[in-house]
Amino acid sequence: MPTAPRKKPGFETLAIHAGQEPEGLYGAVTVPIFQTSTYAQEAVGKHKGYDYARTGNPTRTALEICLAALEDGKWGLAFGSGMAATDAIAHTLSAGDHVVLSDDVYGGTYRLYKRMYEQLGVALTPVDMRRLDAVRRAMRNSTKVVWIESPSNPTMKVVDIAALSEIAHKGKALAVVDNTFASPYLQNPLAHGADLVLHSTTKYIGGHSDVVGGAIAGNDPALRERLAYLQNAAGGVPGPLDAWLVLRGAKTLAVRMERHSANGQAVAEWLAEHPKVTRVNYPGLTSHPQHALARKQMRLFGGMLSFEVRGGEVAAKRLSGRTKIFALAESLGGVESLIEVPLAMTHGSVKGTKLAPPAGLVRLSVGIETVSDLIADLAQAIG
Ligand SMILES: *Cc1c(COP(=O)(O)O)cnc(C)c1O
Repeated sequence: MPTAPRKKPGFETLAIHAGQEPEGLYGAVTVPIFQTSTYAQEAVGKHKGYDYARTGNPTRTALEICLAALEDGKWGLAFGSGMAATDAIAHTLSAGDHVVLSDDVYGGTYRLYKRMYEQLGVALTPVDMRRLDAVRRAMRNSTKVVWIESPSNPTMKVVDIAALSEIAHKGKALAVVDNTFASPYLQNPLAHGADLVLHSTTKYIGGHSDVVGGAIAGNDPALRERLAYLQNAAGGVPGPLDAWLVLRGAKTLAVRMERHSANGQAVAEWLAEHPKVTRVNYPGLTSHPQHALARKQMRLFGGMLSFEVRGGEVAAKRLSGRTKIFALAESLGGVESLIEVPLAMTHGSVKGTKLAPPAGLVRLSVGIETVSDLIADLAQAIG
């Protein structure tokens, strides 16, 4: 028996249709790439909503509507990179403000706050956000942002977004969640109480390792106004082709995440049984310390994991150079599998600090290839 139509369309329907009605001129079912920097006006100030392409572009608008829908937010804003989106939020701060951030936050985020904003008078406190009392203790009257990442990169810590958002709100700070690792298909931080959700769309949303982009979504119209102002004033916007590539990627996000998660689980379980592997960090393993929280907060567990082998750094570097399907590369979230050694690659900027991951940690972005091929590749590389 057919089921009654639901009021709100499902995730997959929104991914393919939100902001993407057939175009008005010729009925193209795909949003056109409006490759233009400016728009002709009928009379001074009389135009169809667009005057200059830093301020707005219809391809970008379609992407922003779609991203908002996927995060179940009221609005979305697209940026030229995840860091441009991060910087827009950081730009809302002034000298004397304080930020509490997760102690294994994305390396580029830490670098931005540490090297650029600390100099301008913004104070930082990195904390292990698994310990809610430590976060409570870190809060000051001047705390404006609590910066959350879950699962974290590269150690795959899972933190309680709802509880952390509550702590942020008690202190009158914004709860911001970098949701890049989970993607909106696996986790919607706004539904757990976060004020802003941020993505590097370069990763799972774009999904094909062919574009760099970023996004922010939220519900509060005042925050939208502030961030849209900064998006235009500082100008970290995506070009029309890049916006289109991210939008095309988003259409298949749900099916890709299902396969990334199935492959991630299978690879994690295989690694966990391997005699040379001493540790596997994957939220889908029952041995993960926050597995129960991950089950509650996430729909599935994704394609990111990290592990350590006997022999430490030397063994980690050796095996990372020996895989044939897993490409040795930075970045993550594409259809193809990638392998890297975080401390020597993505996390070089935290080397020598207490934020540094173990030197022998290997990170995998498990792609959507045939999973038996991926496991065979790791088997020959680990030896
Ligand atoms: C890649 C990444 C970023 C930065 O995004 P770019 O698109 O590279 O600027 C931020 N946060 C996380 C978790 C990331 O993986």
